[in-house]
Amino acid sequence: MGVRLQITLLFALIVFVILSLVCSSVYFFSYQNRVNSIRKRLTNRAITTARLLSHSEIFNPQLVQKIDSATTVALLNKTIQVYDSKDNMIYAFSDVMGDTLPVNKSVLDQARGPNNLYFTSGEKDVIACHVSTNNVGVVMVAGAIDKDGKDNMKQLRLIILISFIGGLFIALAGGYFFSGGLLRPIRKIADEVNEISAKNLARRINKGNIEDEWTYLSSTLNNLLNRLQESFEMQGRFIANASHELLTPLTSILSQLEVSLQRERVAGQYQQVMQSIYLDVRHLSSLTQILLDLAKASGNPAGIEISLVRIDEVLLRLPGELIRQNENYFVSLIFGDLPPEEEALLIFGNEELLLIAVKNIVSNACKYSADHKAVVSLGIQKKEIIVRVTDKGPGIPQADIPKIFQPFYRAGDGEIPGFGLGLSLSSLIIKLHKGNIVVDSELNAGSCFSILLPAAADLKELSNAGIQS
Ligand code: ADP
Repeated sequence: MGVRLQITLLFALIVFVILSLVCSSVYFFSYQNRVNSIRKRLTNRAITTARLLSHSEIFNPQLVQKIDSATTVALLNKTIQVYDSKDNMIYAFSDVMGDTLPVNKSVLDQARGPNNLYFTSGEKDVIACHVSTNNVGVVMVAGAIDKDGKDNMKQLRLIILISFIGGLFIALAGGYFFSGGLLRPIRKIADEVNEISAKNLARRINKGNIEDEWTYLSSTLNNLLNRLQESFEMQGRFIANASHELLTPLTSILSQLEVSLQRERVAGQYQQVMQSIYLDVRHLSSLTQILLDLAKASGNPAGIEISLVRIDEVLLRLPGELIRQNENYFVSLIFGDLPPEEEALLIFGNEELLLIAVKNIVSNACKYSADHKAVVSLGIQKKEIIVRVTDKGPGIPQADIPKIFQPFYRAGDGEIPGFGLGLSLSSLIIKLHKGNIVVDSELNAGSCFSILLPAAADLKELSNAGIQS
């Protein structure tokens, strides 16, 4: 069922309930009013007759009958019956000859009670009441057709029925138009979103001037489009840069092979070409490796093997790894005031990925500083593990600091070889471990990269408290 139909039906249902309540209470109170009125009139009539009958010296029953027949109050086919204390009928009058009211002992007994008795007999409303005049108690039973009252009720029923059906129809029609108006902005937004594709991702949804829920929805979708556009553009830039980086050594290999194959060469020349190709292939291999690592770190985190890792053990592997990269690189490790318990140094994560992340930063510190030295210190602050990598290198300009984590971004003059991918990979890995990297750098003085990682003990507490890590 469409939302428009649902809103229309809901609206009509609410109106139906309200109309039903209003109409039934109007009818109920009108009915009560009519009954009260006829009861009052019949009682008055009965009391008058009782009083007339009690003055037997002036009025005899025949005269009272004449008076009864002469009174033409709007009571149709009225019948009056009077009973003495022994339940004998002592007087009877009816507009229609032979018309009697069904009166039995129970009726008379109830009439002698504290309240008037009211009941209906056929079309007639009947009351039975106890009247005592001149110390003589009689039960008066009076009945009549309340023609005016019933006609009024009939008319009221018709008016209520017409108003009810009319109201319901208006509610249905109104609900249909109202829901159409309500849903129009959604349709408009959906149409606009439909027109947006990867080719025109810069297009945005028109928010309109009025601040309401639809504007909020449009803004939310526009924000989503901003993020999508940003990531599309980033992906596009990444692919272009990666292709360019891969193409450069491949073109160099190709042209060297073409030139050397043009004619016969001496062994030394072949060796020279092979040496150059070997360097290009090594370059290609390390670039492919780092791209693979990047793809791994930015892929599905669920696919990465997670275990408890001791951060000091990861750091202890650094000197050997760095020497293998370049024998001039030197790393000094400082494990200051660490807590004695092993738990404080544990991290939930992947040891190899963590090693890559720290190694890239330490390798940069050695690569960019003239003394090729990096100092790596380990500390713990409020259940957060902090690895600081400090160097006395050239420093990074403040404006470049936010950009150095973008893939292929290279600050400086580019004299020192590199791909511009190391820090983006480190940043991805650290984010994967719910950590953060903070850079503090001063030009011509050096840089300090602080890697902040949540300790496993802290994460355990969080998950115990019901917060998903
Ligand atoms: P790469 O080192 O391959 O160029 P990275 O992503 O590792 O790529 O680093 C990005 C840029 O950040 C580098 O080009 C360099 O300009 C700057 N950088 C990173 N670490 C340092 C450092 N310790 N000292 C000075 N500059 C640095």
